[in-house]
Amino acid sequence: MGEVREMGMNQTTKTKETRHILALSGGKDSSALAVYLLGKIPDLEYVFCDTGEELEETYEYINKLQNVLCKAVTWLKSEKDFKYYLDLYNGVLPDANTRWCTRMLKLRPYEDFIGNDPVISYVGIRADESHRKGYISTKPNIKTVFPFIESNVRHDDVLRLLDEAGLGLPEYYKWRSRSGCYFCFFQQKREWVGLLENHPDLFKKSMNYEKTDPREGGTRFTWNDDESLTELAQSERIAQIKNEYEKRKIRMSNAFIGNQKLRDIWIEEESGLTCERACNICHL
Ligand code: SF4
Repeated sequence: MGEVREMGMNQTTKTKETRHILALSGGKDSSALAVYLLGKIPDLEYVFCDTGEELEETYEYINKLQNVLCKAVTWLKSEKDFKYYLDLYNGVLPDANTRWCTRMLKLRPYEDFIGNDPVISYVGIRADESHRKGYISTKPNIKTVFPFIESNVRHDDVLRLLDEAGLGLPEYYKWRSRSGCYFCFFQQKREWVGLLENHPDLFKKSMNYEKTDPREGGTRFTWNDDESLTELAQSERIAQIKNEYEKRKIRMSNAFIGNQKLRDIWIEEESGLTCERACNICHL
């Protein structure tokens, strides 16, 4: 399938086989896609772009997945780490607009790995979130495909695929709805609380990355625009966040009874993955 022809400087002709690559995030959808494509795409390569700031549970889940796939996942890592880039960006934390973390720690290693080879890149966006944009490289040698959308695979199908493979969900789904770095700025307030309760050391590390000038109107480099992690970690604030989340859950679960469309919206809102915001190489 898919041979391309390249002309070199000296006009000699060579052909290159198309590579098939699935970038795993350590989340449920890309993992379910790996299971779904088992035996369907010969020579499918699996990669994981490790930012070095992932949760331990993510590494454990990728290891479990390797056993199910009976194939090694290629670990990709940037030569320079998060701290290096943070210094390079003058201590300005990444956010949903700049996303330098995704570019430097995920996309660049992925594109370096691909090089100029013709590639079909498999992305696990589901049929019930088909408006969401995947990582679509601007590199002309990469073609992105969405098997779940083509085959109408939805949220419940993904859960079934993972259950049947004996994988289930990654452990962190008990308190968090996404894969990616423990300090990811896309996470919701209740997930920050989850980080504090499940990984106090990582919460503290995230807190230490924040810089707040205590003078009135002083510059704040915080993961959330509206409050620092020190403020969020106050017991009254934690209780308020949990309370708001519980109320919202009840409101939404009543709202979507018998309405699949609303249910889909809730599932997506629950994970905070609105189409323009999330990075799919991190959060699928
Ligand atoms: S998971 Fe979040 S913090 Fe990490 S690289 Fe992706 S967008 Fe950036």
